[in-house]
Amino acid sequence: MLRPLASSMKSFRVGSAFGIPIKLDLTFLLILPVFAYVIGLQLGDWIPLLSEWLGVAIDADVLTASAATRYGIGTVAAVGLFVSILFHEFGHSLVARRYGVAISSITLWLLGGVAQLESIPEDWRKEFNIAIAGPIVSVATGVVAYVLFVLVPPGGFVLEATRFTLAYLAVMNVFLAAFNMLPGFPMDGGRVLRALLARTRPHAQATQQAARVGQLFAIMLGLFGLLAGFNIFLIILAFFIYIAAASESTRSVMNAAFEDVQVGDVMTPRERLDVVTPETTIAELTERMFRERHTGYPVLDGDRVVGIVTLSDAREINEVERDAYRVEDVMTRDLRTVASDVSVMGAFETMQRNRVGRLLVLDDGELVGLLSRTDVMTALDIIKSSGSLSSDPVSTVESNPERSS
Ligand SMILES: [Zn+2]
Repeated sequence: MLRPLASSMKSFRVGSAFGIPIKLDLTFLLILPVFAYVIGLQLGDWIPLLSEWLGVAIDADVLTASAATRYGIGTVAAVGLFVSILFHEFGHSLVARRYGVAISSITLWLLGGVAQLESIPEDWRKEFNIAIAGPIVSVATGVVAYVLFVLVPPGGFVLEATRFTLAYLAVMNVFLAAFNMLPGFPMDGGRVLRALLARTRPHAQATQQAARVGQLFAIMLGLFGLLAGFNIFLIILAFFIYIAAASESTRSVMNAAFEDVQVGDVMTPRERLDVVTPETTIAELTERMFRERHTGYPVLDGDRVVGIVTLSDAREINEVERDAYRVEDVMTRDLRTVASDVSVMGAFETMQRNRVGRLLVLDDGELVGLLSRTDVMTALDIIKSSGSLSSDPVSTVESNPERSS
């Protein structure tokens, strides 16, 4: 799996290869013993299956002799599986690096591996090659495991355990490649699909189409997980794919729409901004919120911005006490600000990261406007429906030239 930068995973570094740090997420430490346990538990079912698929017998009796042998083999096979996933991620990463994309890390987590790329190139050929490299490496790993499996002679416990592990990895790597090539965006197959679609249409449109296929696929996978005996792993995976497809789609649409658009172009400028003072009572504030349909106001003391107050701040005060409290008692003084010449996408990411719905726009310490999530979404709607912001008379209001230096 590939992911652009920015993630909140709690992980720690265990080493590096090709100059790329390898990290383990905390959730990986939960899932590894689960895999080891499940493989050990199902060893008796796996052995005849693998023997049949690969056409060479593996000695079941010596491997399933005791709990120690079963779970020992389970552990080795689970570790081998995750090492295979690392190979897969290195496949993506090394091709990406050839295109000059920086890779901050490869992380193993609950649902496998993630290569964190600084960015994913929009050139369809590059994206195609980066996306397909992982599954190709998995198939190659599977082939190598199969060749080694054929070469290792049957024998005692160690040889049979080695043969089982190699046979298991041969099959699982091919399965891994096939699974990743399903067209569910953001899986590799989804990226391949987007790259192919982007040959003949704009990148944002290709993303939306690939994301829709991904969401449809996620719903089918989730339903299958439910019907196939409530398979929690599949349900979690389906949920993850659905969310990831939706957010990637939104992101790419916004990226395309907001190319060259700055905060100053879409913010509510100072002259149209409704503000409150620190002395405004909470009763008056809530009355104005209702009348002016705003859920947040900058708080100005004279010309100076001293805070921001939102509906949730006002709700902290009991309804009967709202005459007794003033804005300065509840407002947020820790201000999130942005300059008017910052890109809208950059500002939107700042909002997401800080979990706030609005940013004060300050140029040289002076308030020039307010950018809310609503401003961003309204501008996005206008751009999407008309192709640019300039056809809308309201949004062409620019920040004062002498202020935006
Ligand atoms: Zn992949």
